[in-house]
Amino acid sequence: MKNINKMIFISAAMGILLGILIKFYPNLFFVDYLLMATELVGQIFIKSLKMILVPLVFFSIIVGVSNLGGGGKSSLIWKSTFLYFMITMSIAITLALVVMNIVQPGVGLSIDSWQSINNNLPSTMTISQFFKQFLLSLFENPFHSLASGKILPLIVFSIIIGVALNDRKGSFKAAKDIFTSLYEVMLKIVHWLMLFAPLGVFALLVNMVASQDMSLFSQLGIFIFTVIFLILFHGLVILPTILFLITKITPINLWVQGRPAFITAFATSSSAATLPITLSVADNNFKTSKGISNFVLPLGATMNMDGTALYEAAAALFIANLVGMDLTLAQQLILFFTAMVASIGAPGIPSAGMVTMAMVLQVLGLPLEALAILLPMDRLIDTFRTTINVEGDLVGALIVDKITKS
Ligand code: ASP
Repeated sequence: MKNINKMIFISAAMGILLGILIKFYPNLFFVDYLLMATELVGQIFIKSLKMILVPLVFFSIIVGVSNLGGGGKSSLIWKSTFLYFMITMSIAITLALVVMNIVQPGVGLSIDSWQSINNNLPSTMTISQFFKQFLLSLFENPFHSLASGKILPLIVFSIIIGVALNDRKGSFKAAKDIFTSLYEVMLKIVHWLMLFAPLGVFALLVNMVASQDMSLFSQLGIFIFTVIFLILFHGLVILPTILFLITKITPINLWVQGRPAFITAFATSSSAATLPITLSVADNNFKTSKGISNFVLPLGATMNMDGTALYEAAAALFIANLVGMDLTLAQQLILFFTAMVASIGAPGIPSAGMVTMAMVLQVLGLPLEALAILLPMDRLIDTFRTTINVEGDLVGALIVDKITKS
């Protein structure tokens, strides 16, 4: 495990360096073949992570919840997990609102790609419609969610099974044993995937760096810079401080031990695809109790998205600046809640935040065409958002673990 940790780091660095080299010398003879090969390997890596994702989430939440046990401890786990999610997402959004109101990027800027997107969504949506849509999306035929990879309703269903299995009289012991054993099979497959991770991460990063569109920076530089700065501030200062205060785990320890998960998140732009690695890091490197990581991490991978929440709030304010709309305090409060619900509702897949961004824009009455401006830079910003999303999940598991052990 230690070796893989190191290898993932080295291969990420090599991938970025090679990507930069290709950016500067795109005509070198091997570039076309290399990009073709890295594209293929990268896709296979992501697809194999996704292959394991649905059964992993399903079994891990069932096992996690069914092991919570009744009584005081289980309610402490539930409550501290949700409280942690809400508090850290609120901090992230507040950070975005405060700094964006001060820096105000986008005021007086005019951008060419403004009109180039057509969207058929209705142009306004009330906040109650927004909540309704979100609530309804939680309940689905579980076989449909399993087959179509809809994680949020799958989580709801898995929690329900887990609670049902939590029977004091032990009537469902056989079912519980089957789920636990199947979960262990999934973990074994995750271990195999970890062996593939250095190559997968390398391939994804070569491609990502080589295909980055630099011209964006000339027009949108201040916004991109501000958002990335805020995301990094949240990930490098706020989350590690909270972690240290509660668990005494140092930031260095967090980054070194958590590295495989962070790098995979950066390379895949998907918290869900990274989940197998995050689970493995929590169990092997931080030795969190299985019951806690099984519960907090899969839930966090879809619900707890500090980076996405921060970005949705910042991007909505940026668009408001672009169209010359001054959001009142009340509207910013609405933005606060919609950014939170939108990030909770966003699945942990690449650019999911863009889809739910459309809802945020609608609630505020901002033009959906704005997505045309946000989309080209999304690949870049998504890498940072996702890394912080995953960091937030891991920190959450460590904190809940500490709280429930002490
Ligand atoms: N890609 C992000 C994640 O998987 C979600 C998003 O912000 O688009 O965590």
